[in-house]
Amino acid sequence: MAVPDALLQSLQSVKGFDRKTFEAVHASDEKITSIRYNLQKPIPQADWEELPIPWCPQGRYLSSRPSFTLDPLFHAGAYYVQEPSSMFLWQVLKETIGTDTQRRVLDLCAAPGGKSGLLANYCKDGLVVANEVIKSRAAILVENMTKWGADQVVITNNDPSHFAQLPGFFDLMVVDAPCSGSGLFRKDPSAIEEWSEENVQLCSQRQQRILADILPALQEEGILVYATCSFSPEEDEAIADWLVTEMNMESVRISTVPEWGIIETESPRKQAFGYRFFPDKVKGEGFFIAVFQKKATPSLHRYREINLLALSGTESQMINDIISIPETHALFKQGESIRTFARQYWKELQVLAKSLYIKKAGIDLGTFKGKDLIPAHDLAMSVLPKENFPVISLSREEALSYLRRSELKVENTTKGWNLFSYQTLPLGWVKVLPNRINNYYPSEWRILKE
Ligand code: SAM
Repeated sequence: MAVPDALLQSLQSVKGFDRKTFEAVHASDEKITSIRYNLQKPIPQADWEELPIPWCPQGRYLSSRPSFTLDPLFHAGAYYVQEPSSMFLWQVLKETIGTDTQRRVLDLCAAPGGKSGLLANYCKDGLVVANEVIKSRAAILVENMTKWGADQVVITNNDPSHFAQLPGFFDLMVVDAPCSGSGLFRKDPSAIEEWSEENVQLCSQRQQRILADILPALQEEGILVYATCSFSPEEDEAIADWLVTEMNMESVRISTVPEWGIIETESPRKQAFGYRFFPDKVKGEGFFIAVFQKKATPSLHRYREINLLALSGTESQMINDIISIPETHALFKQGESIRTFARQYWKELQVLAKSLYIKKAGIDLGTFKGKDLIPAHDLAMSVLPKENFPVISLSREEALSYLRRSELKVENTTKGWNLFSYQTLPLGWVKVLPNRINNYYPSEWRILKE
């Protein structure tokens, strides 16, 4: 695989760049497979060999690439397939917010959801808004985050400029910006065809535009994490310089261990710290990440909000008879569907609902048909208790049939709603009728691969 010469030239003076080893690693057919376990679900028994990823406690390198599509644990949200360098976000969070995780977090460029899942695990008592501007990609984000099961996530589908209505609302922001993608050449060689110096310039301008749009929504003294999967200094250190000179941001240094092979760079004008992942130096793909703090003293902001639709007393009673909603959670209705969200962030949810287009907030519990609750798939995948439903543990083959929505022949089911699970992890619902079992796995997510 030949890396464009113009890219190699542009990297000559970048710290840590070694043309010979960089070209060699791109010419090799090394393929790295890695996953990150979901801390909010039980860690399953895996039948693969794994090694730890040093900067992320639940990250693992796998010795070979299994078929994730044919692994029920993947569909149960037990883990997410993620490139190792990106998991360095965990180290950034550890160093910046530490154990103070009750944060209002925005993941601005969130689809398909790798970093949102990591943020939801880290800030499990925080509020995570995962936003994606492109509608079709927002749907993938909903799917991945539903499988992840976190109950404190709000998924929105907005342009960065729409966040202007929320000045100072977030205290941590991740901008994993769209970029020219040179860091992923090894995973996606077609990206080489699309790479050009003009596109690097366009990406750099777009990154500035996105950041300028979104920064007013960051609280004073709040943390900005900026990342790209591009090697180009125009998209990395130049943006860091611009943030410091034009946007009132201060660089934050992150500690790394020399054995990790991550290169700490300093931007040419303002010496802002950045962290480069060269695939010839780390076991991972190309990545850049830099951290900043917004200067200025915190001030009080006021927001407009809307009232979410409350449940009637009877509806609340009916739902509580079926599902033990934790004290910490409140209920609301969206159309016919009954949802639950952390009380602690109730006001924030009402503010977000006023200003943004919400695709999904909290956990959908289901809809009532008469007195029968049709439980939502979201509930099955969530971390909420589901002890009032019979659970049927499936073999791997049965689980795959269920996920394919093939015909089911499972014994020992109870009439009514049953939760199917694999290795203690819920997969979804079935309704057992006297003469058949109705499969409620979402048809749009079913496995098509044989
Ligand atoms: N953070 C994601 C993850 O870890 O799974 C990957 C994000 S990807 C590098 C960049 C995302 O930015 C894409 O989903 C893309 O659709 C989105 N995007 C594209 N143009 C954008 C824009 N003008 N403003 C904000 N986001 C944009």
